[in-house]
Amino acid sequence: MSLTQEELSEIKELLLFPKNIIIISHRNPDGDAIGSSLGLRYFLEKFGHNVKVVLPSDYPGTYYYLHGIDDCIIFDHQKKLTETVIQESDIIFCLDFNSLDRIDKIGPFVQNSQSKKILIDHHLDPEPFVDYMYSDTAASSTCEMVHQFIFDLGEEDKIDARIGDSLFTGLITDTGSFKYSTNPQTYRTAADLKERGADDYTLQDNIYNCYTENQMRLLGHCLANRMEIIPEYAAGVIALTKQDYLDFQIGRGDTEGIVNYILMLKGIEVAAFIREQPSIVKLSLRSKGDISVQDICRKHFNGGGHKNASGGAAYAKLEDIIKRFKTVLPQYVERRVVPS
Ligand code: 5GP
Ligand code: MN
Repeated sequence: MSLTQEELSEIKELLLFPKNIIIISHRNPDGDAIGSSLGLRYFLEKFGHNVKVVLPSDYPGTYYYLHGIDDCIIFDHQKKLTETVIQESDIIFCLDFNSLDRIDKIGPFVQNSQSKKILIDHHLDPEPFVDYMYSDTAASSTCEMVHQFIFDLGEEDKIDARIGDSLFTGLITDTGSFKYSTNPQTYRTAADLKERGADDYTLQDNIYNCYTENQMRLLGHCLANRMEIIPEYAAGVIALTKQDYLDFQIGRGDTEGIVNYILMLKGIEVAAFIREQPSIVKLSLRSKGDISVQDICRKHFNGGGHKNASGGAAYAKLEDIIKRFKTVLPQYVERRVVPS
């Protein structure tokens, strides 16, 4: 759903005079969530607005390089402040999520707020909890959409290197460095941001060459000891236990990207990365081609996302979730003949 010309005019009018603006993104924020939020923040500040970025939970250390990241309000640590800034806001931007349950306990505050709400998001099945919905499931990333939004407002001259670095971050992370989910506009956006000063080389270096020794050993452990291949359904599973979390001192963001290694195996089309957390089991699913992991997550794991990249969670035992994944697989993947 694009914004109509009329909606864009209304938004332009809303932004005409300085306001209190909140930008919210999803729990466990990734590069796209953080990059789009900070990019939009620096853009809106150029109009004299008072802008606060609110995140439900902490961000991975990978993104420390992003200017302004330490000004973000983290709901998990600053509940009262979050409530106050939402109460005092005039406008709330909702970036990179499609339903209020993706922002957990902040959801009711947003729902009950009288502020004008604007959604910019690229996930499937967005819920209508906003006044203005800009949803594009073909977009590579919310960062690509924020870039388009700035152009649609006719304010592209305000994009500087700092906004460029923020938005380029989501382009890189949501496409695995331009390997998937791209469309022609993704490359136009990248070119435009680079022209405006985004330093893509340094961004890629910051994002990908930042493993700690523990993370590298954890990756080795996952591949050597925790990976199971199901060749007849072109699938692979990596499952981590609570004990693994203790043994490898796994912190926020440390497991990012591990699921993608499974898809590097020739012939594998579905990948599951399943983690046992203190009170919940979380899943990250990835797929190739027509296999919809969004459908799997939505129907079986209380989640969703994109056709080829989705997540979910369940209150259940780790073994039961692995079993559930294997049980539903045949509904989504045709059985292969595996040479014996
Ligand atoms: P990841 O597996 O990297 O956590 O997430 C992959 C995609 O699925 C992201 O676009 C993310 O926003 C979405 N996603 C992850 N977990 C959930 C969830 O529990 N519910 C929903 N609706 N989407 C999720
Ligand atoms: Mn995204």
